[in-house]
Amino acid sequence: MKMNSFFNYLETLHRDYADVADGAVASYIPELLKADPAWLGIAVVTVDGHVYQVGDSQQEFTIQSISKIITYGMALEDNGTEDVLKKVDVEPSGEAFNSISLEPGTGRPRNPMINAGAIATVSLLAEATPAARLKRMLDVYKRYLGHEVAIDDSVYQSEKETGHRNRAIGYMLRNYEIIEKETDEVLDLYFKQCSILVNCRDLALIGATLANNGVNPITGVRALKGQFVPHVLGVMGSCGMYDYSGAWIYNVGMPAKSGVGGGVVAVLPGQLGIAVFSPRLDDRGNSFRGVEICKRISKDFGLHLFYSSQTTISTVLHSRYDTSTVRSKRNRNQEQTRLLSELGKQVKVFKLAGDLMFTGFRKTVWNF
Ligand code: GLN
Repeated sequence: MKMNSFFNYLETLHRDYADVADGAVASYIPELLKADPAWLGIAVVTVDGHVYQVGDSQQEFTIQSISKIITYGMALEDNGTEDVLKKVDVEPSGEAFNSISLEPGTGRPRNPMINAGAIATVSLLAEATPAARLKRMLDVYKRYLGHEVAIDDSVYQSEKETGHRNRAIGYMLRNYEIIEKETDEVLDLYFKQCSILVNCRDLALIGATLANNGVNPITGVRALKGQFVPHVLGVMGSCGMYDYSGAWIYNVGMPAKSGVGGGVVAVLPGQLGIAVFSPRLDDRGNSFRGVEICKRISKDFGLHLFYSSQTTISTVLHSRYDTSTVRSKRNRNQEQTRLLSELGKQVKVFKLAGDLMFTGFRKTVWNF
């Protein structure tokens, strides 16, 4: 791979995929058809706040299903994992995003990344009124993105008018008492959250915030409590790309989420967020070029989570001693000297440099 900088790399990547025309812009929400099929944006944001972006990275589009990860995080904060799990499971459904995949008997949606699970998740937000729930949601987006967000009213209206299947799912969930609020209000907020406007840089920043344990790396503002980040990334890893999730984690190896607006965001925990915007979708409703470009970046930089390029075990520990053998030059009285020779063995000193991972910890501190 030849490149002078990461920006050049992204420019080359953009050029390589600019003419790829596979897939089709979503049409089941009529308003989405207005997207220019040629749009292609790529953005990467690192946990130390560097932003790299090329192509149509400033072009706004509706976030669609990527909103599901934000709302899921909010529901976890409001209810804790146990109560959320009672309402929405975390098993991949292996089915399309709009499947009515509910657990037989309980009516619990399979996971929060398909529409059924996402609609149920919206109903779990703690605020008492629809207006308060929307306000909090927009505030949370502001935390992730560092700026106010708007709702695309025509996309919202378009989905509201044509979203009969989602309405059917909502009422089914109400029937099983998975939804315990006013169903139409829940659906309305779901349609609104799908119509929130973002650009490719925003998406990469959402990714970087999740990679950074829930703290926006540019503003330093916390968007999601750290304890819930692994759960959000967990369902993204197993369910974020719908019925392509298995092949995705196999090939790309990063938790990710796509939306029918053409966005895809992938997260490498502790390192970066990657986003691609390209509105032509494959048969599963994932951005065609989004998938291909993420595959390429992952391969080119060895970003697959289950690929570990090095181990730091041997280099972390520089020396180890106890204070009965090695002492500082400080003058001590007799009593202190006696105590040190008697108990000094219990004071262990480890000189370490680098990241102390589990194995390093085991070898140095537990010494086996
Ligand atoms: N608003 C869309 C829907 O409910 C979201 C689907 C998606 O992005 N996959 O159908």
